[in-house]
Amino acid sequence: AKTDGKGTFRRFEPALDARMQARRGLEADLRRAIVVQEFELYYQPLVDARTGRINAAEALVRWRHPDRGLVSPAEFIPLAEETGLIGPLGQWVLRTACVQAAQWPVHIRVAVNLSPAQFRDVRLADTVKAALAASGLSANRLELEITEGVLLADEERTLATLTRLRAAGVGISMDDFGTGYSSLSYLRRFPFDKIKVDQSFVRQLPSDPESAAIVRAIITMGTCLGMSITVEGVETAEQFAFTTGEGCDQVQGYHVSRPLPLGEFLSFVDAREAA
Ligand code: C2E
Ligand code: CA
Ligand code: CA
Ligand code: CA
Repeated sequence: AKTDGKGTFRRFEPALDARMQARRGLEADLRRAIVVQEFELYYQPLVDARTGRINAAEALVRWRHPDRGLVSPAEFIPLAEETGLIGPLGQWVLRTACVQAAQWPVHIRVAVNLSPAQFRDVRLADTVKAALAASGLSANRLELEITEGVLLADEERTLATLTRLRAAGVGISMDDFGTGYSSLSYLRRFPFDKIKVDQSFVRQLPSDPESAAIVRAIITMGTCLGMSITVEGVETAEQFAFTTGEGCDQVQGYHVSRPLPLGEFLSFVDAREAA
C-alpha cells in the first residue's frame, strides 16, 4: 500500500497510524476499566420549579482513571458507543443508579442516560426491568433519557421498546431537545413524559430575545402536549427566574448544583430539606 504512488496520502500515514494507535490504546484501557469497575456515578440535583424542592437527580458517569484522574464522559462515551463497550458500561450505570437511588428519600427520582447503541439491543426493556427488580427501586422512580439519535435508527423497534418501558411504569424523557432533527414529528409519534430543553438555548437567557422566544415556545408546546418540561444548564439567578417564570416544571443546572459524588449529593439533599 505504501508504493501505490499516492504521495499525498503516504505523507499523512504516520499521523493516522499514531491516531489509530492512540485510539486502540484508549479502547483497551476502557475495556480494562469496565472489568475492574473504575467508574463512578455523580448525581446532579433537579428541582421542582414551583417549590424549589429537589425531586430528582441525573446520574452522570465519571471514569476515575489511575493516571489521568477523573475523566469526563465526553471523552469516553463516544468511543464506548463506537466499540460496543457502551453495552456493558451502560448496564453498570443502570444497575448502579437503581441500587443507589433505592436508598434515597422516595420523592427523589433518578434519571439515567441511554445511548442509541443500547436501544439496538432488543433485550433493553428486560435489562431495565431486571435492574429494577434487583434493586427494589419502583419503576415510577426511574426516568430514562434518550436523544433524538435513538429514534433515527430503527423506528418501529425503538417505538416498541419505548412502549414496553412505558408500560412497565418507567418515565421516558427526550434529552437535549431542539438540537437534533425532526424533533416535532417525534413528539407526535411518541408521547414522551418529559422534554429537557437543551442548555444551548439557555446560555444567552434572559437578554437574547431569540433564545427567550424559543424557550418560551418549547415550554408552551410541551405543556400543551401533556409533557413535563425541564430546563437544563441554568447557571444564574436570572435564568432561574426567567425559566420558572415561563412555567417550566423542573430546573437543572449549576445555579442549583453541579453534579456531585453520591455522599455529597445526599448531604446536599439533607441540607436543602432542613432549610
Ligand atoms: P447530558 O445528558 O446533556 O448531561 C448534562 C451535562 O451538562 C452534564 O455534563 C452536566 O454536568 C452538564 N451541566 C449540568 N448543568 C450545567 C450548567 O449549568 N452549565 C453547563 N455548562 N453544564 C451543565 P457531563 O456530566 O460532562 O456529561 C456530558 C454528556 O455525557 C451527557 O450530556 C450525556 O450525553 C453523556 N453521559 C453522561 N453520563 C452518561 C451515561 O451514563 N450514559 C450515557 N449513554 N451517556 C452519558
Ligand atoms: Ca441527560
Ligand atoms: Ca441534556
Ligand atoms: Ca448533551
